[in-house]
Amino acid sequence: MLTDRDEGSVSIRCTSCSKTRVLDRVPKRWTSGDRLLTRMIVSSPWFRLLACTLAVARPVGVGTQGRGAAEIAAEASVRRSLDLVRSFEQETIDNQVRLCEIPAPPFGEAARAAAYAQLMRSVGLTNVRIDASGNVLGERPGRAREPHLVLSAHLDTVFPADVPVHVSRDQNWLRGPGIGDDCRGLAVIMAAARALNAAGIRTGGSITFVGTVGEEGLGDLRGVKALFATMLRGKSDRFVSVDGDGYAVTHVGIGSRRYRVTYRGPGGHSYDDFGRASPINAIGLLVASLSRLDVPAVPRTTFNAGRISGGTSVNSIASEAWMEVDLRSSDETALARLAAGFQAAVKRALDEENGRRKRGDPLTVAIDLVGNRPAGRTEAGTAVLDEAVGALKALGLPLRLVEGSTDANLPMSIGIPAIAIGGGGAGRDAHSPRESFDTTDSWKGTQFVTLLAIALAR
Ligand SMILES: [Zn+2]
Repeated sequence: MLTDRDEGSVSIRCTSCSKTRVLDRVPKRWTSGDRLLTRMIVSSPWFRLLACTLAVARPVGVGTQGRGAAEIAAEASVRRSLDLVRSFEQETIDNQVRLCEIPAPPFGEAARAAAYAQLMRSVGLTNVRIDASGNVLGERPGRAREPHLVLSAHLDTVFPADVPVHVSRDQNWLRGPGIGDDCRGLAVIMAAARALNAAGIRTGGSITFVGTVGEEGLGDLRGVKALFATMLRGKSDRFVSVDGDGYAVTHVGIGSRRYRVTYRGPGGHSYDDFGRASPINAIGLLVASLSRLDVPAVPRTTFNAGRISGGTSVNSIASEAWMEVDLRSSDETALARLAAGFQAAVKRALDEENGRRKRGDPLTVAIDLVGNRPAGRTEAGTAVLDEAVGALKALGLPLRLVEGSTDANLPMSIGIPAIAIGGGGAGRDAHSPRESFDTTDSWKGTQFVTLLAIALAR
């Protein structure tokens, strides 16, 4: 999981109407760094009344769905499942380590997928299979096909095949690349499946458990894209991805478009052929133009020229130059507008350089889309978000709503309510070989996922 911007949220109860509301888009330090300051501000009665009265906070968890998780947490069979996941948390952690020690580089997830399919069978899931793109699926049918929850975690890591995957333990800390992101999610959703079966919980709806491929970077969500284009097309109405550590709920999916732009020309001698069009000049014009693009602060929309290369020597006119650009937004319309503006700038730079040319053939340009993650948002009032809020509350866990780029982006973008949540514990240095996971009280995360799964498949 990549959290682009940890925009925090705080849950408040109005002193006048007693409704619980969420105030989001508050500075990150309110919700993470300076907790004392948050408590002081948010707990003051005037602040709560003001936020509610001015309607700057939106209601959360006040519908029937929101009460659901809290109510069912008290039912005997649900209680049993929550006790169970706590009692076998050490085995969940062992699975997390075991899966992490099977390399799963981008486009190389097959070995981990095979082990995961085995784990799915061992916890009692049915119809376990690996689809054409490499996703692992297993089912837990309910009395009806709907509601149909997809509970997923991702198999792939950001690490190339040659990065050692051994996991070391130092008291409560585990260290290994991918140990939190997302071996934690993989292990936790299997713990939830096992607990549901062991506690004999019958659900009205069904759950499909999935280990997806290609969530990270270059994978470009290819697993979840394939899933909703084929196997689960039109079949699922709610999606939860367990991605990484902690308890944050990602309900806004940051979309991105990534392009590689290549200008090509005849090249030549820097002195003899002066006047020919230069791909490097065109790249320069494009960078200048990109830096002047106007983007909104809300919804947050960004651009970055990340890599540039081209040319052969100081005294040659280049025959080729390219750049890679990353465009992002939490809003699909703003992202599409930015992408259109960028493409127009690519064409303008081409025309300008060709217009200045005194001799030789004109430049050509190729624009390749090398990354495409749709943006999306899941609002309060949807079962997934309200039940997640309710489940956190029922378990006494903190609520933090964030933006991010995860497998949940894809279902969000096609209108399926979706979130990504943490699998408990705490982590640091994700996406680095030093990645670590703190197992202290990590069973609370397993309980959160288990309770949410029951609430959403009920
Ligand atoms: Zn992840």
